[in-house]
Amino acid sequence: MMADARRTNRVGCGQYRQDPETPLPGDLGMIASVTSDAAIEVRGLRKVYGDIEAVRGIDFTVRRGEIFGLLGPNGAGKTTTVEVLEGYRDASAGDVCVLGYDPARRERALRERVGIVLQSCGVYRHVSVREVLTHWAGLYPHPRDVQEVIELTGLGEKADARTRQLSGGQLRRLDLALALIGDPELIFLDEPTTGFDPAARRSAWNTIRSLKALGKTVLLTTHYLDEAQELCDRVAIIKGGEIIAEGAPSELGVGGEIRYKVAYRNGSGELTSQETDDPTTVLFELTRGALDRGERLEELSVTRPSLEDVYLELTADE
Ligand code: ATP
Repeated sequence: MMADARRTNRVGCGQYRQDPETPLPGDLGMIASVTSDAAIEVRGLRKVYGDIEAVRGIDFTVRRGEIFGLLGPNGAGKTTTVEVLEGYRDASAGDVCVLGYDPARRERALRERVGIVLQSCGVYRHVSVREVLTHWAGLYPHPRDVQEVIELTGLGEKADARTRQLSGGQLRRLDLALALIGDPELIFLDEPTTGFDPAARRSAWNTIRSLKALGKTVLLTTHYLDEAQELCDRVAIIKGGEIIAEGAPSELGVGGEIRYKVAYRNGSGELTSQETDDPTTVLFELTRGALDRGERLEELSVTRPSLEDVYLELTADE
């Protein structure tokens, strides 16, 4: 980290230059060009660890008020990217802007507006849920009401329990509660439902949806593609440090094309299916042929690929 910081010079809002000899035009602090509806702007972000190029010049924008998902296989570069945005890691090159600030400067004004749920988070073990939240609330200028956060995160029954008595899933809910207590505008959720039982996941999804309803922006990383499909307005899929697809979960396709599956049971009772990017024509031809022959197409269905189907195809190794 220190080596990265020495190798690069920062300009404006998180812009990194690799040439330390070139004079800098001053320390601008905030980028002037940040568009008003962008909560996060990333341009040409690179991160090198020794000889590993973990992030290879990625660009994306997270709009204010949306839930944006960062997806990708293990080691793709998601955590590295998020840690640069959170200000925990310096970039090797590129331009990063979070709510108009350069996160690498770790300014208090930005930290007060951001909530972070890390993959694992330590809390004091001998205090109650309510006490730890009340303590954290005191660190922020405009915290949310503690009881409201307890209810929002489904911790009502455990509000007075010591944190050491919480289950793994309940501790993750406490992590989420701690991220929300400062009433942040932007929330980073790094695999927020890992270890949750199915009912707890659904309830966490409702909490995350309610954040969006409150106008918050959420950057979510997850390996659960149903979670991304349910929650995200847009996703970016990262593989090998590069973004290989980006868009609304329902609009993502392989090679930019959505391959629908048209299936039916034919006259001999066999299930037949075909893939097409033009289901209207395929359905018309199939149904016209069947009607001409006086047949019914049993179990006729048209399905679009799920985010998981597209993801698996896009990230499959050659
Ligand atoms: P996961 O889904 O497993 O959490 P990820 O997409 O978050 O993976 P990163 O943790 O960003 O991936 O890692 C990207 C690459 O950078 C990997 O090859 C990883 O081994 C490497 N890497 C991450 N952190 C370091 C580090 N501190 N030092 C050296 N290499 C690192």
